[in-house]
Amino acid sequence: MNCRELPRALGDYLDGAQEPGGAEVERHLKACRKCRIVCETTRQTVRLYRSAWKVCTLPADIEARLMAAIQRRMSGPV
Ligand SMILES: [Zn+2]
Repeated sequence: MNCRELPRALGDYLDGAQEPGGAEVERHLKACRKCRIVCETTRQTVRLYRSAWKVCTLPADIEARLMAAIQRRMSGPV
């Protein structure tokens, strides 16, 4: 798991999916401050969306845009 692989796994991780990648995500987040910040920000954003819409899953287009935003953030300076 590195900074480029993280965004892909992060979606499942934040979704609460018990993917095998979850442990790797957490390990990387412990070691990498940049990804920790991105993860926290994303987690709060997802929570905000969900509490606003009272839904369990994000609409696919919103999730795709969120993931794209995360990837842009990951590849640029924090
Ligand atoms: Zn990282």
